[in-house]
Amino acid sequence: MKITRINVRNLLIPLKVPYALQKSYGVKSHTCCVLVAVHTDEGIVGYGECNPQPGFTDESAETAKSVIGKILAPAIIGMDPTDVAAIDRRMDIVCKNNNLPKAAVNTACYDIAGKAAGVPVYKLLGGKLQSSIPIMHAIGNISAEEGAKLVLQRKNEGYRSVMVKCGMESVEYDAERIFAIQDAVGKDYPLVVDVNQGWDYHKALRFLRLTEGCNIVCLEQPVPHWDIESLIRLKAASDVPISADESVFSIHEAVQVIENRAVDIISLKVNKHGGILKEKQIAVLAQYAGIKLLMNSMLEEGLAQAASLQIGVTLPNLVDFGSAYFSPLRLDDDITTYSEQVRNGWVHINDRPGLGVEIREDVVQKYLQDEFWAEA
Ligand SMILES: [Mg+2]
Repeated sequence: MKITRINVRNLLIPLKVPYALQKSYGVKSHTCCVLVAVHTDEGIVGYGECNPQPGFTDESAETAKSVIGKILAPAIIGMDPTDVAAIDRRMDIVCKNNNLPKAAVNTACYDIAGKAAGVPVYKLLGGKLQSSIPIMHAIGNISAEEGAKLVLQRKNEGYRSVMVKCGMESVEYDAERIFAIQDAVGKDYPLVVDVNQGWDYHKALRFLRLTEGCNIVCLEQPVPHWDIESLIRLKAASDVPISADESVFSIHEAVQVIENRAVDIISLKVNKHGGILKEKQIAVLAQYAGIKLLMNSMLEEGLAQAASLQIGVTLPNLVDFGSAYFSPLRLDDDITTYSEQVRNGWVHINDRPGLGVEIREDVVQKYLQDEFWAEA
């Protein structure tokens, strides 16, 4: 089988409710989805997506589209898409970094490989260890009162835990929000705190001391991505498990935090690691280092979520407080059928070939900004 041409479409999809992150990330009202379709000479089409967020990622939707259309596509057209390792190596040779556009292409190639073999992608990754995964929901930097109400609602809807975004105001303000939420939902309900690099070591330590006794099951990326030393010191200073998100994009960064025993948890996102194969490789490194995995998400649609689910069901070391499999539900609409797999706070894998989801073309058309064809 050979890749014949690649279609890249940029979509702009509103969030149902704007999502406030820490100060420098600001308030997100849309996601920019770069939708990739890889076509083959056997008529099989594979789909992938990436969702650049400049500030979090190196890429923007414009650079991702350009890298796929002008650099990656010309390099891999003519190759067999089911040779995903060879495709990854070729993309790494012709273009440094740019994990997001590479992830979209890699995911599409896995979709083709699964469809060609008539099996779900998880079968190509060693097979599944579970069929369903509990979901952690998330709230933005909203007030203590609003946050308490919303987290209680998520708990009642069946979600296993909620991630609370922090870092917009002072540490004391965030600690008050956590106490208000815990009062509303009870002390047995797990909370995840994500700071998106918003603090330094001293602020993070102060927050941990102020919230001692709360059921915080994970403190994610409290300090800048490069500050591995502070992650190590925080892990030593507190019983609250520390998670790396922005600190781990590449496999080399994963090796660095694992070798330094810097964290208890790594947050995985198929987009930021450059696709399914590299994410699985990071997952295996973490597994044998005794590190847990949180299947996390960007503001992404059903293709990236489906890819994440195909990997998630193969992993033995997921956190027990749930993973982020709700992303399309907070967007205006799902461009795929993925959302059907989310029920009562759980996501369920299906046994359809490839990523297991269909594209909803009418929905794609609604958000389409522009498109590009790369051909031989
Ligand atoms: Mg995070």
